[in-house]
Amino acid sequence: MFSGISVSPGVALAQAVVLSNEPVSFDRSPVAAEFIEREIDKFKNAIAESVKQLTLIEAQVRKKMGDDKAAIFEAHLMLVEDEELSEAVIEKIKDRCFTAPAAVEDVISEHVSAMEELDDEYLKARAVDMRDLGQRIVLNCLGIAPQSLEIFDREVIIVAGELTPSQTAVLDSSKVMGIITERGSRTSHTAIMAASMEIPAIVGVEGATSAICNGDMIALDAEHNHIIVNPTPSQLEHVESQREQYMLECKQFEGGRDLPAQTRDGVRIKLAANIGSPADSGPALGKGAEGVGLYRVEFLFMETAEQPDEEMQYQAFKSVVEDMKGMPVVIRTLDVGGDKDLPYLDLPKEDNPFLGCRGIRLCFERPRLLLRQLRALLRAGVHGDVRILVPMISSLDEVRRFKEFLAEAQNSLEHEGIAHAKELPLGVMIETPAAVFLAPHLIHETDFFSIGTNDLTQYTLAVDRQNERIADLFEQLSPAVLLGIKHTVDAAREEGKPVCVCGQMAGDVNSALLLVGMGVEELSMSPVHIPRVKNAIRRQDLARLREIAKEVLGLSTATEVKMKLDEYWG
Ligand code: PEP
Ligand code: MG
Repeated sequence: MFSGISVSPGVALAQAVVLSNEPVSFDRSPVAAEFIEREIDKFKNAIAESVKQLTLIEAQVRKKMGDDKAAIFEAHLMLVEDEELSEAVIEKIKDRCFTAPAAVEDVISEHVSAMEELDDEYLKARAVDMRDLGQRIVLNCLGIAPQSLEIFDREVIIVAGELTPSQTAVLDSSKVMGIITERGSRTSHTAIMAASMEIPAIVGVEGATSAICNGDMIALDAEHNHIIVNPTPSQLEHVESQREQYMLECKQFEGGRDLPAQTRDGVRIKLAANIGSPADSGPALGKGAEGVGLYRVEFLFMETAEQPDEEMQYQAFKSVVEDMKGMPVVIRTLDVGGDKDLPYLDLPKEDNPFLGCRGIRLCFERPRLLLRQLRALLRAGVHGDVRILVPMISSLDEVRRFKEFLAEAQNSLEHEGIAHAKELPLGVMIETPAAVFLAPHLIHETDFFSIGTNDLTQYTLAVDRQNERIADLFEQLSPAVLLGIKHTVDAAREEGKPVCVCGQMAGDVNSALLLVGMGVEELSMSPVHIPRVKNAIRRQDLARLREIAKEVLGLSTATEVKMKLDEYWG
């Protein structure tokens, strides 16, 4: 039995597909002259096989996931049919007696290095495609079928070291029943994507790829953080009943989609959705979201090979705003740096990226990048209730500087006669201890707060949120974090301004009830969590939640807090 960090709810039962972490190894010794032709044939067959595979994948992805996702494979197809590439490989086999896979690996790595050094941002970003493709041709040369995450003919559970954003982007959620990864954390990319695709997932499972074999039957219970490999008949029966219970619960919650998240004593709590792309609006509404509490624009920036221009950003924002039909849409300015990289930005390597040029700091360093976003935001504001959220704030000077940029964006649109909102509500993310301490000053000059408990926990406790070695120290229910939240909520309420919590805590039932008891009136979370949180809120009296929160805020350790919450709400 394994466990890790349960990051996306649900129970799944299916066969494992294990993605190995190990690069494929093969003999690199030179081939004898009489085998040269055989190696050339091997290479040609590998190319033909790769074209066949990619054509199939491209067609299936286009049908299931649309044109933008299919474009990844279109690019691979163009590269694989490149004459120059083939000639270079064949030359290496003929002139230097390389084996086919060795020649491919060499040529590809030369191309990748050359592309990475180019000034052209688009070509630079294509190096990732080139590397992916190289791996496919090498495997085909060796007669190993490359693992396709896009098409499965049966239900599977993916077991991997880690999944890349491009791998998760093309996962077929009708076939992928669950995800298990060795790395990752509650707030990692895989976690966020799995929750948004409603695929049960447990991350941070040490040794999973070596302990689990392809074809093993896996029972993944992300509700109780259990993974059983090849369960016995009685374990199987138990997991089946857990799965049925989970499905039943989901069905019951579905019926409550249009009910308000209101406590028994009549207090309305707003439940909004965290989204990463316009495609998430539909599922968010389907779960009963009352608007978007956090639109993480990073994903829009990650999906493209070059910086999305103003028009592209405007269209994405507008589409979400229109889908939300007058409900608020909180759009956060770009929060890259830290763990999120964008190849085309050429971010210098930092020793402490989470303490480095991240979020608003990076945007200030790249004024054109910031202005483009602000212009797109202001233009989208014409179509509905858009609110701007600024990440990684640690001083009031940053808020003032941000407002100067906003004014500049406004003036330029005015000057050019382009339709835009004259004023949009401006909020800051409270995710650094500095922002907590400065909350009374920050709220005075802004319109709302959104508490990012993922980063607030990381920075308050000095625990890297990505580091699985210290995952047990990442305690969102630490009294230190809770006191920071309380201080922030009190500061906002003092000024009569709204405060939302948009970190992972908002989607956890016990934490959500505690936050409501502490005075939080809005929670924003992955849509998959909304029904369960709503159901829990509807069963409580605010007066009682307040009493419990008061008691909990007097406790001195996270263990005591968790025990107390379990005692009240199990
Ligand atoms: C947070 O830090 O809690 C948050 C919501 O932002 P992100 O997870 O994108 O850093
Ligand atoms: Mg954050």
